[in-house]
Amino acid sequence: MSTIAAIATPPGVGALSVIRISGPKAHAVLQAATARKTPLPPRMATLVHVRAANGDVLDECMATCFASPASFTGEDVAELTCHGGMLVTQRVLERLFACGASPAEPGEFSRRAFENGKLDLTAAEAIMDIIHAGSDLALHAAQSQLAGAISRTVQAAIDTLLNVAAHLEAYIDFPEEDISPQSTEAMQSSLSEVEAELTRLAATADAGRLLREGVRTVILGAPNVGKSSLLNRLLGFERAIVSPIPGTTRDTVEESITLGGMLLRLIDTAGLRSSGDAIEQEGVERTRQALRSADLLLEVQDATTPLAELHESAENANAPHLVLLNKCDLPEHPSRRHQSGIRLSALTGEGLPELHQAIADLFATQSGERDTVAAVNARHLHALRDALSSLHAAAAGLENRALPELIAVDLRSALDSLGAITGKIDTDDLLTRIFSTFCLGK
Ligand code: GDP
Repeated sequence: MSTIAAIATPPGVGALSVIRISGPKAHAVLQAATARKTPLPPRMATLVHVRAANGDVLDECMATCFASPASFTGEDVAELTCHGGMLVTQRVLERLFACGASPAEPGEFSRRAFENGKLDLTAAEAIMDIIHAGSDLALHAAQSQLAGAISRTVQAAIDTLLNVAAHLEAYIDFPEEDISPQSTEAMQSSLSEVEAELTRLAATADAGRLLREGVRTVILGAPNVGKSSLLNRLLGFERAIVSPIPGTTRDTVEESITLGGMLLRLIDTAGLRSSGDAIEQEGVERTRQALRSADLLLEVQDATTPLAELHESAENANAPHLVLLNKCDLPEHPSRRHQSGIRLSALTGEGLPELHQAIADLFATQSGERDTVAAVNARHLHALRDALSSLHAAAAGLENRALPELIAVDLRSALDSLGAITGKIDTDDLLTRIFSTFCLGK
């Protein structure tokens, strides 16, 4: 196994940058680069000088060593915190290469952690989700996933299916015996139990997408109702900090905000910035498309004007549609007395807490019980669907008194699909695909 090194902090200038080294020679590489006579004590930050081959000091750094297996990767690890200049960091890294380390591939640290049993795949993915989380709920879900919320459910299903498989095996070994009705019933009930659990897990996929990628939100309404004012007020309130997730495509998103614990991506806001109805401007098709793919429609109306028809959003009947009655700081038009909607003022900020709450109610309920939920990603969903379809086939086999061997084949393929979620199968392709989305040094 090679010893790898990479800069773990983002490229650019900062106060500090961190270089990670992992592998059997990690401690020796550090010792050579710092020209120390004795190894560093483990788990103690120690001031060191990284030196060039001629003894010149390249940088003064803090170094911490971790001895295998008690490290992130499970291997011997050393972490160097050096000054955060691009040149100085690069020089230190080159010195580590000269002392025997080789450059790490993107995601290689996490891959080693996975291969050494320090993380399962859902936990490795959760690390990426934590890095990219754009809202509190997303962060929370990623942390639950890192703590094993998804793996535990999947592992429980695997254990139950293994029991069923063991049971079936007995009948395969004694082909003269038919499966008894009691056994059939017990196996059927185990299968439907697993099916229910996996279906519940698969149902978190929508929430998972919204948490990971944000809620695609369109603000719509007639000219002068206060769309831009509302947008500016929301942006001033809580502008979201977001980083792009590798491997996901999205439209040009102009602004993101966090509201009600969720990340809202305001799509197609171009029309908002200029005055006039976005729908009636040139970008009609673009706006249509935005409406069709939206997860949330916020329709702004001017409450001081006569009651208006709601915006035609039939093209997207699935997305929740919140009506915001703006300018509630002014007297409301009498025709709106019985209209339901969130009354707010972009001018004074009145009513914004109600908007927060409405969004939290919409999406927090979608993500299930907030305290325990970890929501599956698209890869998990795909595997869950495969597992469910194999389970249905196995259940049908039991029902129709198929040969136990045939039922076992379906069980095996359900187990393989579930194994792919946590990575407890040997599929190199899958691993390469997952870890290649990691950033260097992770
Ligand atoms: P848009 O065309 O829908 O983007 O509307 P604007 O945000 O440009 O607002 C149109 C006008 O309404 C501007 O003069 C705003 O100052 C005013 N306005 C927007 N929101 C409010 C509000 O909550 N209260 C009051 N009194 N005026 C508002």
